[in-house]
Amino acid sequence: MAFVGENDAARLAQLIRTRQPCVVLTGAGISTESGIPDFRSPTGIWTQYDPMEYATIDAFRRDPGKVWEFYALRLEALAKAEPNAGHLALAELERRGLVRAVVTQNIDGLHQRAGSREVIEVHGSIRTATCLACGEETPLDRALPLCPRCGEIMKPGVVMFGELLPVGAMERATELAHEAGLLLVVGSALEVYPVAALPEETLSAGGALAIVNRGPTGYDGRADLKVDGGAGETLSTLLRA
Ligand code: NAD
Repeated sequence: MAFVGENDAARLAQLIRTRQPCVVLTGAGISTESGIPDFRSPTGIWTQYDPMEYATIDAFRRDPGKVWEFYALRLEALAKAEPNAGHLALAELERRGLVRAVVTQNIDGLHQRAGSREVIEVHGSIRTATCLACGEETPLDRALPLCPRCGEIMKPGVVMFGELLPVGAMERATELAHEAGLLLVVGSALEVYPVAALPEETLSAGGALAIVNRGPTGYDGRADLKVDGGAGETLSTLLRA
């Protein structure tokens, strides 16, 4: 059932208090208020760039320079971005012992910069680069880095379409979702698998689901609470509640 209105924050606060442990699952929607566009909204990245040309592992193997041009733009946007009220509220909830962990599909590192400590990055991170030839991983400080070990062009440390998700991170995320009394989804359309299967993991183990997202998700009908509103505003109101 969907609830929208003043009571949302109070209802969400009650769910978080009574359905511990609370695990949070975030997507691109929590970072749009930091000036980073999401993928699928009308102003999203995929309206300007064809994902088949810029976001698949085949595209990278075909033309790494072209994919790095796209990432250079994203790196520039990320360098200017600061954590917003939503990231800060989640970090504060963790400090208060009310959030166990944040599982994120984002690669922007804003949860850690906001002070969250238990962050599981299931789609990798833009802070690193990896070498497809020899496996070397290094911090990423500029676009088109060359591998210090073998000289190959390195790949951004993010998961591209056609690649497997990091096994350890996905196992940990699944375990957290399974043990969650409440899975709180923030800013994700829940369309990209296997992450979109995590709510099922919580529900089938008897946990509850709450969703804060502008626009519909595939799980709206199964959530105890759906707040169709901005992540920053909703989470900072929640903190006060
Ligand atoms: P998505 O674009 O599919 O969905 C984002 C959802 O958030 C949409 O439903 C949108 O309406 C909603 N939204 C946008 N702004 C919002 C706000 N201020 N408050 C509440 N809701 C808001 O993104 P997704 O589900 O994360 O898709 C998955 C892929 O997008 C992931 O692979 C992720 O790695 C990638 N991505 C990451 C970043 C980043 O790191 N910041 C940016 C773009 C895309």
